[in-house]
Amino acid sequence: MTNQELKNRRTHKDDIMKENKINIEIIRSGRKSIAMEITRDLRVLVRAPFRMPDSGIQKFIKDKSSWLEEHLELVQKKIELLEQQEKTVQKLTMEEIHQLADQALKVIPEKVAYYAPIVGVDYGKITIRNQVSRWGSCSSKGNLNFNCLLMLTPPDVIDYVVVHELCHRKELNHSSKFWGEVERVLPNYKEPREWLKSNGGGLIQRMR
Ligand SMILES: [Zn+2]
Repeated sequence: MTNQELKNRRTHKDDIMKENKINIEIIRSGRKSIAMEITRDLRVLVRAPFRMPDSGIQKFIKDKSSWLEEHLELVQKKIELLEQQEKTVQKLTMEEIHQLADQALKVIPEKVAYYAPIVGVDYGKITIRNQVSRWGSCSSKGNLNFNCLLMLTPPDVIDYVVVHELCHRKELNHSSKFWGEVERVLPNYKEPREWLKSNGGGLIQRMR
């Protein structure tokens, strides 16, 4: 693109036109063809070559009018749906997160102390975190981390996560040997695991 073209590009940008009550923004550039696009904030952009006459652009917009109407509606519906979803997810306040962490500090060490001898392992430090990536973890040294959001899950889910991490003291992987250990301690572990799979994401969204 030459300097002159760059200058033209700047002067032609923000050329806003009104057509059927929809604001259509025309952006000319060194491109070879004309195209229409709807942005996430529902702006309509027409990208056109420098040399295309205004009449050509108007004809393009007219030809595209039913496509535009249809797609504007689709994009709008998508945005409304996203907004709705965001509203139904009640975000946790910092205060609530702290309360959950305090509660977890009482509940989880007790459960760990209860299950460790059943699993047949020892453990190091227990830390409660507010993390968005995982429910629990176990380091090679035996330090255990648990997510404070576990306090919002049913008791058998907390048991499952505690046993899961303790079983990593024996197997630092998810092999069939590992799952065998989990099953020995919690024969019904698949139920809480499924619960976490279907509801865990929604809970974590409350923290984001
Ligand atoms: Zn694991």
